[in-house]
Amino acid sequence: MNSQTAITEKKSKVAILPIYSVTPFTMLDFPERTACIIWFSGCNMRCGYCHNPQIVKGKGRGTVKEVMAFLHKRRGLLDGVVLSGGEASVYTGLPDFIREVKQLGYAVKIDTNGMRPDIIADFLDQGFLDYIALDYKAPPDKFKKVTGVEKYAFFNETLDILCAQNDVPFEVRTTVHTDLMNEEDVGCIIRDLNQRGYAGVYYVQNFCADNERPTLGMLPAQKRILNISTLPQAKEFTIEFRNF
Ligand code: SF4
Repeated sequence: MNSQTAITEKKSKVAILPIYSVTPFTMLDFPERTACIIWFSGCNMRCGYCHNPQIVKGKGRGTVKEVMAFLHKRRGLLDGVVLSGGEASVYTGLPDFIREVKQLGYAVKIDTNGMRPDIIADFLDQGFLDYIALDYKAPPDKFKKVTGVEKYAFFNETLDILCAQNDVPFEVRTTVHTDLMNEEDVGCIIRDLNQRGYAGVYYVQNFCADNERPTLGMLPAQKRILNISTLPQAKEFTIEFRNF
């Protein structure tokens, strides 16, 4: 392969990143940053409670060129970029995209379901990430029921990698719909985080029905809300409850 071919291939991988949309401003999604969110189409999971079926099953609607033009204009106004979706880590063009974003001076956060430990390890090695939000979807015996995939081992490896490093802060979070998960399941996650010596924040998020938007698994509203008073104590981390 000559160098021109290599450059063309590199450009084309970045150019075909399926960007669904951009949220131009958020102060809630990237701690201590004013950020935008880039939503990537496509996902390697099929969570029944997912509120974004149009993103998970959709195609890219925006171009990398448009996003880079937006980021050029917002320098000095924003200082962070959140890569969300969908699942951004599945795309081979992402490293080059992050490199370009960081060259503009932005900090980068990724929201991930943890199915690509190889990618997260590589991004950490390369200094691509400034913050990570990791979904702990379910304990091993409920993982397939909640996510549609039988790959807890990949998630487990990602969490191992993150717990073994101190360079990049990360948070762990679980969304609970009580048709899928109960107190024992969330308790199992808390005990696992205790055993790993996790010391960050664990967000337990109550599923909120949105009648305008059916979920990916067409889940009905919950019949009951998780009883958080019965959950075990966290040893070294903080548990924060959202939407309870
Ligand atoms: S909730 Fe599940 S299906 Fe939806 S984007 Fe996240 S990981 Fe993918």
